[in-house]
Amino acid sequence: MKSFKTESKRILDLMINSIYTNKEIFLRELISNCSDAIDKLYYKSLSENIGLNRGDFEIKIYADKEARTLTISDNGIGMTAEELENNLGTIAKSGSLAFKKDNEKKEDIDIIGQFGVGFYSVFMIGEKVEVLSKAYGEKKANVWVSSGAEGYEVKEAEKETYGTEIKIYLKADSEDDRYSEFMEYYKLRELIKRYSDYIRYPIKIENEVPASAETADGEEKKITTVKEWETINSMVPMWRKSKSELTDEDYNKFYKDMFYDFQDPFMHMHYQVEGLIDYKALIYIPKKCPEAYFSKYFERGLKLYSNGVLIMDKCKELIPEYFGFIHGLVDCELSLNISRETVQQDRQLRKIASNIEKQIRKELQEMLDNDRARYEEFYNNFGLQLKVGIYNNWGMDKDKLQDLVMFYSVKQDKLVTFKDYVSAMPEDQKFIYYATGSSILSIKKMPKTEKILNAGYDVLCMTDNVDEFAIKYVAEYDGKPFKNVTDGDSLAETKEENKISEEDKNILEFVKNALDGEVLEVRLSKNLGSHPVCLMAEGEVSIEMEKVFKSMPKTDGAQDVRAKKILEINAEHKIYEKMKNLYSSNQDDLKEISRVLLDQAKLIEGLEIEDMEQFVSLVSKHIAN
Ligand code: ADP
Repeated sequence: MKSFKTESKRILDLMINSIYTNKEIFLRELISNCSDAIDKLYYKSLSENIGLNRGDFEIKIYADKEARTLTISDNGIGMTAEELENNLGTIAKSGSLAFKKDNEKKEDIDIIGQFGVGFYSVFMIGEKVEVLSKAYGEKKANVWVSSGAEGYEVKEAEKETYGTEIKIYLKADSEDDRYSEFMEYYKLRELIKRYSDYIRYPIKIENEVPASAETADGEEKKITTVKEWETINSMVPMWRKSKSELTDEDYNKFYKDMFYDFQDPFMHMHYQVEGLIDYKALIYIPKKCPEAYFSKYFERGLKLYSNGVLIMDKCKELIPEYFGFIHGLVDCELSLNISRETVQQDRQLRKIASNIEKQIRKELQEMLDNDRARYEEFYNNFGLQLKVGIYNNWGMDKDKLQDLVMFYSVKQDKLVTFKDYVSAMPEDQKFIYYATGSSILSIKKMPKTEKILNAGYDVLCMTDNVDEFAIKYVAEYDGKPFKNVTDGDSLAETKEENKISEEDKNILEFVKNALDGEVLEVRLSKNLGSHPVCLMAEGEVSIEMEKVFKSMPKTDGAQDVRAKKILEINAEHKIYEKMKNLYSSNQDDLKEISRVLLDQAKLIEGLEIEDMEQFVSLVSKHIAN
């Protein structure tokens, strides 16, 4: 007797002690293993011409009530002694994965079923399990036997045909659990229908059907029953059924089974296209973005089937990066030997991918136009992905995505599209104004936002790091350039206001020099309300971008990216009065106060102060004064 590997043992313990209330899923897991095993053999037969037909394959389930056993058999690829040992002795070793690796160089093939509680779930309902298997092309068969935690044994056995037969000795019934139910025709039928209906090979169970028999004298007829194999699953993959046959519930259930989500999807799209290219596609937008989405481990892609046979689990060529959160599958006619490289070049697939991308955008646009609330729900979950999509690839996809993004409008107090913004613009407005900040609230409070609002214009709030980078690529919408409210000349003040006295000019020059070249310019402003000073930026890099750059890991030798800053002083603030006085009475103090004001403006912007100690001591000194 061999013992299980540690990690397998742990899972096994969980299964035996049945933390799962949903014990019946064992059947789905076993059937899906059978189907994988048949897929493997079918695939082999297609690529090596071994003369097997699709119709030759089947999965059979047989209950023996007297022996209290349930047997699940398939005529798939089977397992050698070594494979029994490797695949069932340790859970971490997934045979599906190993098969994939072996074939990677030749063909890229994925097999469904790399997920789930897997084979060990059988111990939720069985006290002993025998796996009798004969690998295709081998002479000898073997049996793997285990009663759970103690370990398992593999020995030679007799089996005529290739494939695998799993015999489960059911646990004794208890008050809570009626394991014998799993031997009933109706129960099995229900479970197969529920979990395994789209398995593409027939799943058969025995059913008793009435049969008439004649008595010896040939006269009296008596009704008896005979057992017949009955195929339970409809086999037609769900995406091949016509839409009118399917309910939302069907789509949702399929989604959860297929893509391992516990929630219903946000929406589904089902395409059955016939014409120059024929394909079927089933596309799902999940409710929530996958957690690993922005990590390097995330793999996007749609499942790719050729005539109902899975040939690639994550075909990334079928879905653009910005729709990477979308799940789905495509079924079309392809050579089964298609490899990663050929997928990229396949014209038919490229066309399908482009159709799907367009369809998704169209549906989203329609939702945006007709059902705002629902689109907002979508946007709250995936807006960031769309914005990152605009930014990626140097803005190459901006035209496709710019009408789908929304930003919060300060004036309208809701999310708006660029189109909404532009159509609400007063005639004299030249720019689309936006402000960046950590929250809508902080943006609303910014003096610069107020300035634009006072001029009668609206401001879009950009609160995600990527926002402004994306906007730089969009650059303009409907001929209106975007402008950050902190941009130096965002709102050129009237000439009247720009007229300043010689004295003011000298003071501003003095302040600029006092700040050791940290700012490009010092200006007077009348639009700052109660704020004494405010920081603006000129040129390509905004203050918000400087912050983002600063938070990113720096490569060796890279220089800090800085915004060209402009310090605006509120001409109507008392502080400016004081500065004027100091200019003629105490220039040393004015120098120090200039420093404090700049640091203060930086703090409001969320920028770091280089010399915090100096700031604190200067503030204290001038308060004490
Ligand atoms: P998974 O299917 O996720 O790989 P399982 O624990 O369900 O994990 O199964 C482990 C492995 O055992 C499978 O990957 C497969 O190689 C092998 N296996 C299980 N059932 C069968 C079967 N009916 N025929 C052939 N191989 C099987």
